[in-house]
Amino acid sequence: MTEPPTETALQKAAEHIQAGRLVAFPTETVYGLGADATNAEAVAAIFSAKERPSFNPLIIHVASAEAAERLVVFDDRATVLAEANWPGALTLVLPRREDCPVSRLAGAGLDTLALRVPAHVLAQQFLDAVGVPIAAPSANRSGTVSPTTADHVRESLGNGVDMIIDDGPCQIGLESTIVDLTTDTPTLLRAGGVTVELLERQIGEIQSTTDDDTAPKAPGMLSRHYATSIPLRMDAMELRDGEAMLAFGGRTLGPAPASCNLSRGGDVKEAAANLFDMMRQLDKPEYSGIAVMEIPETGLGRAINDRLRRASR
Ligand code: AMP
Ligand code: MG
Repeated sequence: MTEPPTETALQKAAEHIQAGRLVAFPTETVYGLGADATNAEAVAAIFSAKERPSFNPLIIHVASAEAAERLVVFDDRATVLAEANWPGALTLVLPRREDCPVSRLAGAGLDTLALRVPAHVLAQQFLDAVGVPIAAPSANRSGTVSPTTADHVRESLGNGVDMIIDDGPCQIGLESTIVDLTTDTPTLLRAGGVTVELLERQIGEIQSTTDDDTAPKAPGMLSRHYATSIPLRMDAMELRDGEAMLAFGGRTLGPAPASCNLSRGGDVKEAAANLFDMMRQLDKPEYSGIAVMEIPETGLGRAINDRLRRASR
């Protein structure tokens, strides 16, 4: 399963990615757990392997700034930062393009995406070989330290990953710096491999943020969690007047003005892959709310329920 960084290994890795499987690969920051970002089921497999209790948006890795510009809308600050720091340990948060092919799950339902062009030679070759944007959080189980060697990945994820490309220890060993460019003043979301002082010399003031999701947002700051604009109700046993239905499994709550089924077969991974698209489809002012049927608290069901709970507030 662990392979040295050869031409054959890269070919194999590309086949895994195209088939919707997971490949751990080295970057200059930490090892990433990569999947085809345009394939929602493959992205669901990332959350499943990491046993993440909630869906947070993932960093999307691309081969070049040109590839990034096909997914998100650049402004002048983004262009300056990309030219000065990419490839490198800087992640930019920008608005998704209308036709962005990245799955909604990879961005946790948000209208923004976090993007990075890694500098690591093997990561570059991997991105070239796969030809699709790669969603990749750190390749470790949730709540454990980020892996900076292939051994760390194997110890943490074991059989949860289909292939690990081993190219030795990561040079930086620290996560990327994340800057949100969707606010009037750019916002530092995470300190990391590139210093804020350097970035401020390039684009001027960067404000900091607390990582506390419950803190009130500063004016102009976008929520970091996707929520529906109409009320959402969990564990619904019946439909109320005018409610759209978000079903799970073979049952139904009766005739609704609109309905979607997260997974007719009751598969939580399929449900995770469908979650944000279906929430958006039903989030229309003509419905009085969204009634969501009970979803089991097993595997990815926990992360689905966590996200629905946040949206139901
Ligand atoms: P990781 O993938 O583990 O390196 O973590 C990615 C980090 O990027 C998390 O802290 C996310 O909350 C943050 N992030 C990713 N996408 C976005 C986004 N669209 N908006 C805000 N933060 C993001
Ligand atoms: Mg991590």
